[in-house]
Amino acid sequence: MKRRPSELRSVLDQLDREHLRRQRRTIDQFVEPGSRVTAVVDGRPLVDFSSNDYLGLARHPAVAAAMGECAERCGSGSGASHLVTGHAAEHTKLEEDLAAFTGRERALLFSTGYMANLAVMTTLANRGETVLLDRLSHASLIDGGLLSGARFKRFPHADADSAESALAEHSDTTSVVATDGVFSMDGDVGPLSDLAHVSKSHDAWLVVDDAHGLGVIGNTGRGAVEHFGLDADAVPVLVGTLGKAFGSFGAFVAGSSELIELLMQKARSYIYTTALPQPVAAASRKALEIAQRETWRRERVLALTTRFRNAARQLGVPLMAASAAPPLTPIQPVLLGSSDAALRAQQALLTAGFCVVAIRPPTVPQGSARLRVTLSAAHTEVQVDELVENLTRVCAAQRMVS
Ligand SMILES: *Cc1c(COP(=O)(O)O)cnc(C)c1O
Repeated sequence: MKRRPSELRSVLDQLDREHLRRQRRTIDQFVEPGSRVTAVVDGRPLVDFSSNDYLGLARHPAVAAAMGECAERCGSGSGASHLVTGHAAEHTKLEEDLAAFTGRERALLFSTGYMANLAVMTTLANRGETVLLDRLSHASLIDGGLLSGARFKRFPHADADSAESALAEHSDTTSVVATDGVFSMDGDVGPLSDLAHVSKSHDAWLVVDDAHGLGVIGNTGRGAVEHFGLDADAVPVLVGTLGKAFGSFGAFVAGSSELIELLMQKARSYIYTTALPQPVAAASRKALEIAQRETWRRERVLALTTRFRNAARQLGVPLMAASAAPPLTPIQPVLLGSSDAALRAQQALLTAGFCVVAIRPPTVPQGSARLRVTLSAAHTEVQVDELVENLTRVCAAQRMVS
């Protein structure tokens, strides 16, 4: 598709015709203080079933207070990049907390998960080498792989045997195998034990991006690596984000001291950007502490997920098969197929007071447009039940017309 100035209008028109134009919704305010599940959009209250605020921490008063207190003490901006004069005490403390939480020697803070993945992929893979990725890996892992200049191979989703064949075939050049821990659009997990085994036997780095697993799954909320019982030796590069279960903003890479040192020396998305504001780091530390202390949040979001699944299954809502296998995660997509059907379902749910966002290609493969339902510890049982009732009605209507 050309994008010359004179062609701009037709590019946008084509997105409209294909039902692929993306739209933002502006949240005006939240209805209940301290909870962000009910938001006011265009003057109407909407229950949000599409956020990544799995533990209900994004508007927790103690997290906001930690941010405010730090802002009064340290100001709003860091003023420089980490390697110049932007790195401060709150960053160091958060890195120490994250290293302890993940059971790794060190952690390195990034402004976003997108940048953390660019850093990892471009630092660990080079031109002339090969990177192997799960086909459904997050866009930032893919972009990092492309930017590294390495040859790019994708294996079928969650298929460790295919990954192993590809590794065997390109053993001499493959430096990185990368996968999501919990997949953001499907809610299932990668075959981490098998990938750890084959990566190790071919001397390749295994990179696990567990943006959606950390804080939520595993016996103590330490994510997909905990679910599979994998230590730092099995998963040497662990990427996590702070804007999802931890309700804040930012991201990190956890691993050996030497790996972290290498990233600090080489990663352009670490070096050439302003350090995260200290108040944001302070908020993340508080959220991390609450997530670990209040284990009921994790239990609650998973109990609500079970409630959602049971009711949805009973009423014939098309849940995705992948999200049925253990471990249970709060990402429970409803498969509708065409972008048009997904958009109409989204609109019908909006009318009924629910914000459930339609996810369309290219974010997901052609023909697998879906509603991405996510649950939060901040939802109520009644809200979950009402969502399922409305989903049942909306999905039935879509099947009649499509
Ligand atoms: C959200 C997400 C990211 C990006 O993290 P940000 O901090 O939002 O930039 C990276 N990887 C995965 C799997 C994600 O879901």
